[in-house]
Amino acid sequence: MKKILIIHTGGTISMLENKDTGEVNSAEKHPLSDITNQAKLTAEIDERILFDLPSPQITPQHMLTLSKEVENALPNYDGCVITHGTDTLEETAFFLDMVVQTNKPIILTGAMRSSNEIGSDALYNLLSSIRVALEEDAREKGVLVVMNDEIHTAESVTKTSTSNVATFQSPQFGPIGIITKDKIIFHRTRLARSTRKVSSISCDVFLLKAYAGMNEQLIKAVHQAKPDGIVLEALGQGNLPKEMIPSLKAIIDDQIPVVLVSRSFKGNVQPTYGYEGGGKQLYEMGVIFADGLSGPKARIKLLIALEKTKDMELLKNMF
Ligand code: ASP
Repeated sequence: MKKILIIHTGGTISMLENKDTGEVNSAEKHPLSDITNQAKLTAEIDERILFDLPSPQITPQHMLTLSKEVENALPNYDGCVITHGTDTLEETAFFLDMVVQTNKPIILTGAMRSSNEIGSDALYNLLSSIRVALEEDAREKGVLVVMNDEIHTAESVTKTSTSNVATFQSPQFGPIGIITKDKIIFHRTRLARSTRKVSSISCDVFLLKAYAGMNEQLIKAVHQAKPDGIVLEALGQGNLPKEMIPSLKAIIDDQIPVVLVSRSFKGNVQPTYGYEGGGKQLYEMGVIFADGLSGPKARIKLLIALEKTKDMELLKNMF
């Protein structure tokens, strides 16, 4: 019989609704513990509570601890299911996807409605995740996110709605698979991923979003804070208001890497436009273009990359 490890980290899937106040908060006992008694499973299940945190309190240090826990446990299991708050689930999923070297399934799941709310998706998502973790086809796919009968890759998935149970979507390519009553169906495979093992996360990377009329005030303030790196969610194909350019250049001259993604949630950034503030000028200035990643995920990637090197050229190659 296959063996699956469930690691709980908190979030709504670990919480209960107070029926008097309507408030949703952590429960004394995990509402989904003892899963084997709640559903007929043809697998041996072990469970661990690693953290009990709402996911806005999850940091890259927690992600690192979780990655080590998964790495140490995996030799004894056929797969791993991690329950997590949905707010930062995509960042944790991507972190694990970047650092954990395995061909076994690692599934992240959460819930939009806690276990005692009407229409709760908590138990359902957990059971779906275990089913996917048991599936042979789920191997070699990197870290997957299972919610609402869909399977998404860590790289492409994002939370799109604040409250709808169909919140997790992959805007660029759609889900990699679906879950039906009796089948797990993958529509496609995944290109080989390369992982980078890290033993610490020691750098500080800021994330900024560009907007019409943005000037150099914010970028100057960020420079003064001396971060180890900056991710900029630029406009369209990778353009910025021209007023930001002198301060941005000063940051790059100071050897602080600036990684560019788009605030559009589909498509890639590319050095197309030659006007002042256009992508071509940014590229020639030494801004690093990150293909197809969201701002939060590019930030995770830069945090991991900075553990390997601070060299601008090598960082550029990693993206
Ligand atoms: N705020 C919650 C969290 O991320 C939302 C959820 O879990 O769905 O912890």
